[in-house]
Amino acid sequence: MVVIGGGATGLGCAVDAALRGYSVALFERDDFSKCTSSRSTKLVHGGVRYLQKGDVLLVLEALRERGRMKANAPHLVKDQSFVISNYTYWDNILYFCGLTFYDLLSFGFGYGRSRFISKKKVLQYIPTSVTKGLKGGVVYHDGQFDDSRMAINLAQTCVENGGCVVNHAGVEQILHDEAGKVAGVVVKEYESGKTFPVKARSVINAAGVFVDEIMQMDEPDMPKMVRPSQGVHLVLDMKFLQSDYAIMVPKTSDGRVLFAVPWHDKVVVGTTDILRETPESEPKPLEEEIDFILNTAGLYMDPAPTRADILAMFAGQRPLAAPKKEGKSTKEISRSHKIIVSDNNLITITGGKWTSYRLMAEDTVDKAAALGLVPRRKCRTKNFPIHGYRKNPDLNDHLYVYGSDEPAIRALIATAPGLGEKISEKYEYTAAEVIWAVREEMARTVEDVLARRVRLLFIDAREAVKAAPRVATWMAKELGYDQDWINEQVKSFTLLAKSYFV
Ligand SMILES: Cc1cc2nc3c(=O)[nH]c(=O)nc-3n(C[C@H](O)[C@H](O)[C@H](O)COP(=O)(O)OP(=O)(O)OC[C@H]3O[C@@H](n4cnc5c(N)ncnc54)[C@H](O)[C@@H]3O)c2cc1C
Repeated sequence: MVVIGGGATGLGCAVDAALRGYSVALFERDDFSKCTSSRSTKLVHGGVRYLQKGDVLLVLEALRERGRMKANAPHLVKDQSFVISNYTYWDNILYFCGLTFYDLLSFGFGYGRSRFISKKKVLQYIPTSVTKGLKGGVVYHDGQFDDSRMAINLAQTCVENGGCVVNHAGVEQILHDEAGKVAGVVVKEYESGKTFPVKARSVINAAGVFVDEIMQMDEPDMPKMVRPSQGVHLVLDMKFLQSDYAIMVPKTSDGRVLFAVPWHDKVVVGTTDILRETPESEPKPLEEEIDFILNTAGLYMDPAPTRADILAMFAGQRPLAAPKKEGKSTKEISRSHKIIVSDNNLITITGGKWTSYRLMAEDTVDKAAALGLVPRRKCRTKNFPIHGYRKNPDLNDHLYVYGSDEPAIRALIATAPGLGEKISEKYEYTAAEVIWAVREEMARTVEDVLARRVRLLFIDAREAVKAAPRVATWMAKELGYDQDWINEQVKSFTLLAKSYFV
């Protein structure tokens, strides 16, 4: 089996296939989780807002997966408490009832219970709340995680179970047999520039917002399936939250929800939902999106954040299945996943969310078996520990995200004095983590390290720019590259990072 795309969906499929004992290779044209899968709100959730629309089955399905994700990757997924601050008594009743129903649906899947809280408690939990007109609040629970770290751990899980994953290698062509059925792919490995064919009985297209490109490699006349919908997040200093609790605003002026979630000692605030014409792997936040988030956050946070407070910002595109009826707004397009099989047996999986990556993978690999492309075998991912599995991580130690690898990184620091040196004066990340990322986590560029192995680009973009020369120098030593490589890497990373701050 060949899987195209190393985001949540593709990695999920590759892990599932490897665990069923198939011979599987995944190709990612950039880095694992480069696109949408590194730009989520970092929530492992059932989707409270889909309940408002009566989509109970979708919520139930996601709540089950929410529980499984925490059980299988407890080093990365934690229980997160959210506060909904209410400014009318009616909202107190409405949200308490709605969230109690949410709890009932998730019964037995391991997260805390919802409860009503007084105005005094709201201010205790979220000291920066706007107090004028506050009538009380509701606390509820969902999961929170590090999306890119999860992607890397999935890649490792796949490899440990016999699969093969390759980053910086893009699929450029779909191969067909004499009967016209899909028979493999042509891959270009970008570092060497070499192109090679890979034969496969089954090809899964998990290219996110780029699935249409792959479908058209198979059938040039295939109509477009996906409308990219952009969402932006702003990252702010903890002074805007001063709490372990997250804020959830259930109804913004555009009828969506807004979150402010603590993440790596910062606050991630978002998101937006704007249809875009073309898919992009590095989409840029629009001015109107930045303004909307700042203005909405300012209604609930005191002091209100301004542009000068943005430490980092990032945009991602949802691979939403295009609406049949023109004119539907993006928030009405279904968030459930879709599997499409072409006449030539290319299997495309699109839609869904990070939280349901495992179920999406199970359904997709089942489909390949149902089509007779691979032998029928039972899915084994429901209760399978992800690489790094470790219970009760110490969240105060920045190395907690490595889970069971954490002692090995500490041991690496002890092997040479320079490896304990910090990447940046302000943050705890060390040279050892850079070396670890290269040796154990397939990082090939400064961006791979600073954006997705440690998350400095996403939490403080200016500081990431300052750290780039040091990271490039350590990487060059490890990989055997020269000063030209260092210069080129620093230049391209600095250019990229400029779109992560205003
Ligand atoms: C703003 C925003 C917030 C979100 N928040 C949440 C959240 O809090 N919780 C949640 O559960 N979900 C969330 N989601 C949804 C979730 O992030 C996505 O559903 C998920 O990441 C999609 O993963 P994917 O693998 O399908 O796509 P991607 O992550 O985009 O992966 C596709 C990959 O395919 C690669 N590719 C493309 N073409 C080729 C080719 N020719 N050859 C090889 N590789 C190729 C790309 O480089 C890319 O890495 C959010 C989405 C957005 C946009």
